[in-house]
Amino acid sequence: MEIIRTPRIMRDTSKGHILRGKNIGFVPTMGSLHEGHLSLVRRARQENDIAVVSIFVNPVQFGPSEDFNRYPRDVEGDTEKLVKEDIDILFMPDITAMYTEDFSTYVEVEKISEKLCGVFRPGHFKGVTTVVAKLFNIVTPTRAYFGQKDYQQCVVIKKLVKDLDMDIYIVVCPTIREKDGLAMSSRNAYLDSTQRAASTVIYRCLTEASEMIKSGIIDFGHIKKVMHERISKEPVVSGIDYVGIYDPSTLDELSGIKDEVLPAAAIWIGNTRLIDNMLVKT
Ligand code: AMP
Repeated sequence: MEIIRTPRIMRDTSKGHILRGKNIGFVPTMGSLHEGHLSLVRRARQENDIAVVSIFVNPVQFGPSEDFNRYPRDVEGDTEKLVKEDIDILFMPDITAMYTEDFSTYVEVEKISEKLCGVFRPGHFKGVTTVVAKLFNIVTPTRAYFGQKDYQQCVVIKKLVKDLDMDIYIVVCPTIREKDGLAMSSRNAYLDSTQRAASTVIYRCLTEASEMIKSGIIDFGHIKKVMHERISKEPVVSGIDYVGIYDPSTLDELSGIKDEVLPAAAIWIGNTRLIDNMLVKT
């Protein structure tokens, strides 16, 4: 596995592969890799000639009071995991290489970025779309792989690619969960044992909502109330950003049935923000 730290070298390397007729699969990450990330990595490995993974904790997508400084980092462990997965290139740029002192260009997907998580994390998706646009320009992938766990991110990135005519196919991969249902996330490392035990509430509440929908209950106001009650009953839950049933395309809250719906929630356990969602065919 080749480790590249300079955007120019990464771009030249990709160019060489493309000139030789190879396609490139790309998985952007912030590192501290778990099985969720590795499921994307394996898919990229299987479906492409060249597999590239980036690790970059992007400061621009964290708000001033968010966890950029304490975000878990494990470059050594990550490198070992990626070697085992037979990845061709690990791209690990420095912050100064990505954001030079005079950096002043941002990419913003309007409207859809302002819903759900966008309400509570202003500027977050602008940071995501800016860094993803940069990474796409540097890596020039054929396909890029994202996790359904970050559902809104997938919708926003697809819109970015469509609106800016990027010739990249976005592959959305299923959410990988711990045995008890908790969606894997680098941020789960922040949870102490009591918080970790209670954190399954988000999965339990989404499962219950999905089952209610599948059983034919169409009063989404009622389902939302049940979800809200279940979450607020947990003593370790310190806040609820949103919980409800949403339109998977527009991310607007739904009041009635559609052929596919998205129960989703974002909650706080102590100082840790957890998100999860499930796509339900009705
Ligand atoms: P992150 O390092 O958190 O920015 O995540 C990098 C990529 O991995 C994103 O596309 C995430 O959606 C995806 N990802 C994170 N957790 C999971 C998971 N539990 N299952 C599937 N994909 C995931």
